[in-house]
Amino acid sequence: MNINQSGWRPGTPVAADEAIAYPTATGNRALMLEEPLIFEIGTDQTSGVDLPEPDADAPNRLGSFARTKPTGLPGLSEPETVRHYTRLSRQNYAIDLGLFPLGSCTMKHNPRLNEKVARMPGFADVHPLQPTDTVQGALEVIDQLSHWLIALTGMSAVAMSPKAGAHGELCGILCIRAALEARGDPRSVVLVPESAHGTNPATAAFAGYEVEGIPADSDGRVDLAALKNRLGPDVAGVMITNPNTCGLFERDMKTISEAVHAAGGLVYCDGANFNAIMGRVRPGDLGIDAMHINLHKTFSTPHGGGGPGSGPVVLSEALAPFAPLPFVTKHADGSMHLVEEENAGAEFPDSFGRMTAFHGQMGMFTRALTYILSHGADGLRQASGDAVLNANYVLRSLDDVLDAPFGAAGPCMHEALFGDDGFADGLSTLDFSKGLIDEGFHPMTMYFPLVVHGAMLVEPTETESKGALDQFVMAMRSLARRARDGDETLKTAPHHAPRARLDEALAARKPTLTWSEPGG
Ligand SMILES: *Cc1c(COP(=O)(O)O)cnc(C)c1O
Repeated sequence: MNINQSGWRPGTPVAADEAIAYPTATGNRALMLEEPLIFEIGTDQTSGVDLPEPDADAPNRLGSFARTKPTGLPGLSEPETVRHYTRLSRQNYAIDLGLFPLGSCTMKHNPRLNEKVARMPGFADVHPLQPTDTVQGALEVIDQLSHWLIALTGMSAVAMSPKAGAHGELCGILCIRAALEARGDPRSVVLVPESAHGTNPATAAFAGYEVEGIPADSDGRVDLAALKNRLGPDVAGVMITNPNTCGLFERDMKTISEAVHAAGGLVYCDGANFNAIMGRVRPGDLGIDAMHINLHKTFSTPHGGGGPGSGPVVLSEALAPFAPLPFVTKHADGSMHLVEEENAGAEFPDSFGRMTAFHGQMGMFTRALTYILSHGADGLRQASGDAVLNANYVLRSLDDVLDAPFGAAGPCMHEALFGDDGFADGLSTLDFSKGLIDEGFHPMTMYFPLVVHGAMLVEPTETESKGALDQFVMAMRSLARRARDGDETLKTAPHHAPRARLDEALAARKPTLTWSEPGG
């Protein structure tokens, strides 16, 4: 059938059209195609399959379940359906298309080897309720990965089941709470420095603690004196992001841990940025009691669009007994077992409970272990070194044209932080970021961390080549010049994207998630 019969109409006008010198009749921009919603192009007259008309005289066995009106689902032919989804897929920016400079997210290349291994039927087709003697290999993957995570962090144990970074934070804080309660000393306050990730205070509050902030010093690090001053018998612990969200290593970590321990508290470290220190620093040597690792950041498992993630939590000797169930153990004969409620018994009486229904994200475990084994210890160490090198290359290639608030304090870790100081009046970080879209890049993380005005947080990761970084730097330098010179065209950027300035706050607060017939 002809595509026009299905109700397709020329592209809806787009806001950016005003700024486009050569509008097109279709709304398409060269090979960038407009695509309406599937409900707008589908009809109930069309179907992708040919079915014979039902025999009107045949007995109806559906009874009261027989349909009385159309389903309301859009009907399209097979090629229309294929085109619809292929067009939509081309509208997404992705790590496989170009540099994705989002700071605090670690959007790095996911080696195809990981994907191949994760799809092997022995890993991909197992069910969490299968008898353990049928999934020995899968359990061994969890066990081997645990050993690597413990070795890399210098800790005593690891809880594998948390399903994301923030979920791991909750697991760690619940371990801390269980340990304090077991000691008969429940405490009420968790201290969270300004340089911590936003999920840290949210986690502490969710676990029922009062959250108190600790200021950052002029170097962008925890104000050690302020932290020490606040310690006391009501403080359950601290949550410190290291490397922190300014992209800086918290140099005083060991002193902080000692002070917190001396005051009877415990130390949570947000280890989402472990990719900057992996193979170089062991958090266990810094006195940390619990730390989550984002497998989906450090060990390259994909995490676009909000999932899936995996946030194993490494634990110190003090917290290991409180780890959640289930966990994997290996018996002397080499067989793998799962410790669950029914068999934890006298050997593991202190577990605080369960974080998830089953054992965690199997697909992420296989990918992370593949990444680790294919890199080896030296490769992991090189990955963290290259990530830091790339971020410093970006920092030093831009600090003469962009304000780098902590640039003078020395090298950064895995991400470079800039502010909007020096932009012409009326031009903002938002305008700058929209300009970056015109240049073909996904914008960097904006307005985070909060300690820097108009923050722009750039994390290139180790997988970007010098050529890719140079092209990004060239675009950033051009935008910095335009922002300083007060180039008004930045205010209406992007000019080349199919959509320009959307009301992002409205979209987030009042998302329209269902389609309704116009006027219906
Ligand atoms: C990404 C990140 C988190 C949260 O991890 P999720 O997997 O998104 O829940 C926490 N802390 C820091 C520093 C992060 O970068």
